[in-house]
Amino acid sequence: MMQSDSTCEPTTRAREFPFAELSARDGRFRKLYSRYQLGPLPSSDIRSEDVQQVLEQLVEVSRNSGSKWPLSVREVGRSFEGRTIQLASIGRGDCHVLLWTQMHGDESTHTSVAFALLNTLVRAPESLDGDGQLLDRCTLHVLPMLNPDGAQRQTRENAQDLDINRDAVALDTPEGNVLRNVVRELRPAFGFNLHNQRADKKVEGSDRVAILSVLAPPLDEADRETPSILRARQLALEMFACGERFLPGHSTRYEAGYMPTAFGEWVQAQGTSTVLLEAGGWVDDAPGTREELHYVTLLTALAAICEGELAGVDAGAYLSLPLNQ
Ligand SMILES: [Zn+2]
Repeated sequence: MMQSDSTCEPTTRAREFPFAELSARDGRFRKLYSRYQLGPLPSSDIRSEDVQQVLEQLVEVSRNSGSKWPLSVREVGRSFEGRTIQLASIGRGDCHVLLWTQMHGDESTHTSVAFALLNTLVRAPESLDGDGQLLDRCTLHVLPMLNPDGAQRQTRENAQDLDINRDAVALDTPEGNVLRNVVRELRPAFGFNLHNQRADKKVEGSDRVAILSVLAPPLDEADRETPSILRARQLALEMFACGERFLPGHSTRYEAGYMPTAFGEWVQAQGTSTVLLEAGGWVDDAPGTREELHYVTLLTALAAICEGELAGVDAGAYLSLPLNQ
């Protein structure tokens, strides 16, 4: 019987992972991506109906497979124009992890990545980690496409012309209310706030495109440090390192001040260790695709959470990561 891990503190001491070993794991995750990616691509073509269809199909596959980690899907709310917003959950661990994608309607990369992640967890859950215990330790909740009306129009804002990511306090949008309710209900230990940044963002002091940027949103103006936010910084560092192994010199820390009306800040303040992940522009001769990089990065983050790898990461290094320009 698995021992439960309600605080999500590492169950094993941090291990020293040599670069070669991590690269080998990246390679394994990349093979999983090529096997389990789902359309439609480009991800900007994904609409609310596609999300519903993919989730329905995955529930069916999961049911027929008799997996000990069945996928469940439920409606958690509706958009301003009445489109359904669904939450997919898989796993039976006490460590709850929440990912939400596309709160900006024209930022679709991670919705496609979320499909691939869920497809992998449904069809090949044991292939993720050596001991097959990720879904015993964690329960993963995915909210793909929080802003289906914006996705329909390919706009950042929702159908009220409001930016959901500036609505964490006013709560004028139905979509913002959905996210807030889900966070309040699940009280996740970890949160992933998934976005696309402008394609012309560069790594500071260089001409290199920033293909991956991370941010542990601050708790307040004074940037107060708590165990929860230090864990978020450790996680951000793991994700940054994954980007650097994929294409050295093209990952950054996302530069942003404290924004009390943004959801990253609000979720962080709930005690959920939260990381903002931005997919950036692309380098044509990069080894793979944007979706593949972000799939591998999120799998790496999940592995770090459930394998106890965060314990050995020096959170202080977060502040010296290269910034966007
Ligand atoms: Zn965004």
